[in-house]
Parts: sequence; C-alpha cells; structure tokens
Amino acid sequence: MPMKILVPVKRVIDYNVRPRVKADGSGVDLANVKMSMNPFCEIAVEEAIRLREKGAATEVVAVSIGPAKAAETLRSALAMGADRAILVETDAPVEPLTVAKILKAIMDEEQPGLVLLGKQAIDDDCNQTGQMLAALTGRPQGTFASKIEVADGTVTVTREVDAGLETVALKLPAIVTTDLRLNEPRYASLPNIMKAKSKPLATRKPEEFGVDMAPRLTVLKVAEPAARQAGEIVGSVDELVARLKTLGVVA
Ligand code: AMP
Repeated sequence: MPMKILVPVKRVIDYNVRPRVKADGSGVDLANVKMSMNPFCEIAVEEAIRLREKGAATEVVAVSIGPAKAAETLRSALAMGADRAILVETDAPVEPLTVAKILKAIMDEEQPGLVLLGKQAIDDDCNQTGQMLAALTGRPQGTFASKIEVADGTVTVTREVDAGLETVALKLPAIVTTDLRLNEPRYASLPNIMKAKSKPLATRKPEEFGVDMAPRLTVLKVAEPAARQAGEIVGSVDELVARLKTLGVVA
C-alpha cells in the first residue's frame, strides 16, 4: 500500500562556508552566515520524492525543528517537491535526543510508513537522531543507505559499511538514514520555487508535543583545528626517506 514519507530536515551553516569560531570559544559564529538545508537531508528529500514519483509513496512531509528561519529550509524542501511541511519552532538549542522525541510525537500523529533522515547534520556531526528515533519508537532502522527499494511492506536498504555494502530488509514502518551516494538531489526550478510558497506549512511548538527542550549536553569549548604545518620540498627519494626517518615516520 502506498505510504506517507516523513523527512526531517535541518537548517545548518552552508557547506561552502568556512566556519568561524566565536572569540570566547563558546561556539561557531552564525551571525550573517549563509545557512542552507543539511546536504544529507537534501538527499533524503530527493529520495522521498523519487519514491513518490515511482508510486511507492503518496505524500512527502518535510519537518524541521528550529528557529522561525528554518521555514526557509522547509520551503526549499517544498520547492524540490515535498507536499507539505511542519515547522516545530524553537529558539532553544536542539540536540538529537530532543529532536528524536519530537519526531516520535510527529510520527504518532502522522503515521508515516517511512522516515527518511540524513545520516548526520554537518554542523555538529552527531549522527544520532535516526538511531535515537528508531530506539524510541521500536522501529527497524537502516542507516547510511546508498540504495533504497520499497515493495510489499518492506524497505530494502543497501548500507555503506566499512567492509563494503550490506543489504538489510526492514518491515515498514521503518527509519532510514541517507548516505552521500544514494542520489544527486535535484535543483528546484523557478516555477517550483514559486509554487512552494503556497504549499501548506504548519507551525507548531515543542510544548505541544510535551517534549522538554532543556539541553542535556554542555559544550565546554569550541576551537579552530590546529593550523597545518608548512610542507618541505626535498630533492630526491633518498632525501625523502632520510627525512622521514629523522621524523620517525618510517624506521
Ligand atoms: P544528527 O543526528 O544531528 O547528525 O542529524 C541526523 C539527521 O537528523 C539530519 O540529517 C536530519 O534528517 C535529522 N535532524 C537533526 N536535527 C534536526 C532538526 N533540528 N530538525 C529536523 N531534522 C533534524
């Protein structure tokens, strides 16, 4: 039976922007910085739309938990082809556990057959939300998907693991997270960007779902990566080997 797909999308610092750390080391400076949809979430939106285009899904619902501006991220998902969107508006810092709890409450309301998340958000690289959502809901999970097929109440997920590719079959409803090679997201056309402005976008509050947004994690310090040391040019392979021996890189 065709199903609804829920796609959680996060608004993050654009992947082309070089993050600047705040002078007091308390976090990344986001003032006047370009923000975009997390790239893995774009892949999830694309895959959900493709499944709907193939007839495996009836509706694609994008959801974001974040500030009012996350509505822009949802409009991007609508412009790509999602049918409607839900913004759970909060200015509180969002952590994977609170996001997963809100997504669980939305799953209870929406009853999607599939939840397609990104494997990780590129701002804090947590790689936790999908797994936590699967644990909270008791649903099967297929993480790091590079191929997804839906048939007969089952989603078959090819997973990118260290040793190669692993294929798992999950009974729907299921939770799947996307890896980089799953697809290449489409660009939204101008007419679709215009159309997206009139697609439904509901605004909700975390309190409506009874989720406590109090942070459980404390960021102690954020620092720039150590500057790379300048390279050296050596005159020959022998000189290179000798130099590596002095540095203790080779015996
Ligand atoms: P993370 O566990 O933070 O690395 O994020 C993994 C995935 O969870 C993202 O690619 C999104 O699909 C989803 N997610 C995380 N945070 C949010 C959020 N604030 N709103 C919507 N989806 C989110």
